[in-house]
Amino acid sequence: MSDGDIAIRVSSLSKCYHIYDKPADRLKQTLLRGRRQYYREFWALKDVSFEVRRGEAVGIIGRNGSGKSTLLQLITGTIRPTTGEIEANGRIAALLELGSGFNPDFTGRENVYLNGALLGLTTEEINNRFDAITAFADIGQYIDQPVKTYSSGMLVRLAFAVQVQIEPDILIVDEALAVGDALFQKRCFQQIEKLVSNGTSLLFVSHDLDVVRLMCDRVMVLYLGRVAEIGPVGEALSAPRHPYTRALIASMPGSAAPVQLPGEATSPIDPAMNACLFASRCANAAPECTAERPELLDVGHEHQAACLRL
Ligand code: SF4
Repeated sequence: MSDGDIAIRVSSLSKCYHIYDKPADRLKQTLLRGRRQYYREFWALKDVSFEVRRGEAVGIIGRNGSGKSTLLQLITGTIRPTTGEIEANGRIAALLELGSGFNPDFTGRENVYLNGALLGLTTEEINNRFDAITAFADIGQYIDQPVKTYSSGMLVRLAFAVQVQIEPDILIVDEALAVGDALFQKRCFQQIEKLVSNGTSLLFVSHDLDVVRLMCDRVMVLYLGRVAEIGPVGEALSAPRHPYTRALIASMPGSAAPVQLPGEATSPIDPAMNACLFASRCANAAPECTAERPELLDVGHEHQAACLRL
């Protein structure tokens, strides 16, 4: 793949938070300047690497706490990585936390212009797109009311309308669309498909496997901040190779008979780094799984899984 084909390149990306048991420990850490460690480490994301091509749609799935939102926030620049690099080529539009990027005291109209400017559009470019934005958002006279008076559905409609009308090179969508009604979601998915077919790259977090199958070319599965599996969406979801992917699919809405993930999760704070973090829940676990960290291995064309017992 040539560099010109790449929209996003993520290399060895990690994000670590310091967890202090007592507020005084934070102060001691500052005063002693690292001579003693008063915190424990929580790696929200650890050694994540992948690429997204231009016009490719990649879904990200995993339970809460798997690092999905952290990864999206790092790519959009909302937070900074502890280590690793991100290369994003082109204009990024992101629909993350509901209403983020909107000033609650401004009207919808004012927020359209504010967001458009933040996304790099001139006033004239926003003027040219304004009617299309309001037509898509379909919030009528509310466009001249402060957005703090909006329902969550109205907020997401306006936010989505702004993001897609700027025709981004990269579109990042978290669970935000889940608050819209079914008809609006359908219109959003149609709009996203249109953008992707015109060359926009999509990173899409969802708990709905049917939507991921429909919208995405590849899927990445995260567990406790690590990539468990990444591969073509059909193959990875219909014939998953990693035990966690199999357990996750069986536990998600849309599976034939949703079940609970077995066992207790490994604590994400100071976990054993030289072990498979899924070992405490894995029916296939063997002694080597608690003594060695699995790396991603090729299991098919563009399909990798991180398991010692493939
Ligand atoms: S490495 Fe071992 S514990 Fe981890 S997923 Fe594979 S079999 Fe299960």
